[in-house]
Amino acid sequence: MPERRNIAVIGATGSVGGAVLDVCSRLKEHFKVWALAGNSNIEGLHFLGASFQSDVLVLADPVAAATLTQKVSGRFSCYGGIEGLNAIIEDPRCDEVVFASSGTGTLPALVKALKSGRKVYLANKEILVAAGDWIMPMARNGIIPLDSEHNAVWQCMKCEKPDRVKNIFLTASGGPFLDTPLEDLEKVTFEQAARHPVWPMGKKISVDSATLMNKGIEMIEARHLFSLPPERIKAVIHPQALVHGFVEFVDGSVKMLFSKPDMRLAVLSALGFPERFDNPWDFLAPPDFSELIVQFRIPDEEKFPCLAIAKEASILGGAYPPLLIGADEGAVSLFMEGKIGFLEIAKKVERVLSSYRGGAPTSWEEALSLVDFARSTAFTI
Ligand code: NDP
Ligand code: MG
Repeated sequence: MPERRNIAVIGATGSVGGAVLDVCSRLKEHFKVWALAGNSNIEGLHFLGASFQSDVLVLADPVAAATLTQKVSGRFSCYGGIEGLNAIIEDPRCDEVVFASSGTGTLPALVKALKSGRKVYLANKEILVAAGDWIMPMARNGIIPLDSEHNAVWQCMKCEKPDRVKNIFLTASGGPFLDTPLEDLEKVTFEQAARHPVWPMGKKISVDSATLMNKGIEMIEARHLFSLPPERIKAVIHPQALVHGFVEFVDGSVKMLFSKPDMRLAVLSALGFPERFDNPWDFLAPPDFSELIVQFRIPDEEKFPCLAIAKEASILGGAYPPLLIGADEGAVSLFMEGKIGFLEIAKKVERVLSSYRGGAPTSWEEALSLVDFARSTAFTI
């Protein structure tokens, strides 16, 4: 009987959190879902806590946390706010932590988790893009990537020497507007943008996939995870979403990771490491190769300028990655509210970045402040 590890899932009520919990429900002999955290979804977190018989529940929103505490009346240990997340990380019962939260609110908790040497699985790309310069040196035991492209590259890199890597490639399905003419993009709605052709995801990342900002953000994420300069990280359009990432080595060999597009497979490989667990889902077996034609295309950066803006931010570094994260959050929320059009997202982000006159952050706390600054600037510029 393997030793059961206590896992904390931050962002449990979200899309990736759901995939993580689905995997954990199949791996009960390996994991106890000991703690669950979300932002403000009281009912959702309570339901999950009861389903997984967890010990600790945390909501980042203190008001929601107080309501939850009253509701569960002693059945769980309940906490709120950043202190609540810290309580999870500092608890000696906590073995491993999954960051499946959105936004940058959980950055202080990630810092604590890394400093205390906890095993960390990361889907929350915003925190790494905003503050990777400080996060990666803290990650003495590494960070296991859950984002599917990075998880693919991480799998391809096993048993390889990092200095023998020439380039890495992150694939993008191209989103719902891959073949929509540029002139028709002016009028597309949030509902259309959120209808991702391949992956069911949270709302914000679905819009980012439609603008290709998600791929640009992922290129910066990859820079930190794999210690590569921006020019050696490429994006490739692959509408079938069966190849998630590939690594080109100096000898001309290319390794690709091929699997059905489902976050549960990335999570299964990550939670299983260094072993490999059996795939419990027949429908997630690899597709039939006999008639498969795999296609790749170069992304159109004129039609999807967010990709070019993110690449530029990656090359400039310093303040620009955290500004990119905040500006995009602000612009996407305005688009989701119907206040700006789809094409205005890139224009707004560009305006926020090009109007910045300050210096580079010198700590992760300053990087976090820049995210907030850019988000609020996006609402006014
Ligand atoms: P969702 O919007 O579906 O879920 C976000 C989750 O984070 C919710 O559980 C939310 O709680 C929680 N949350 C937000 N802020 C905090 C906070 N301060 N403290 C604790 N919990 C918080 O997002 P996704 O699941 O789509 O994405 C999550 C992250 O993973 C993002 O960074 C995204 O870019 C990345 N990602 C997503 C993929 C996907 O397939 N969806 C794939 C790869 C990466 P509540 O429900 O209470 O609001
Ligand atoms: Mg991804």
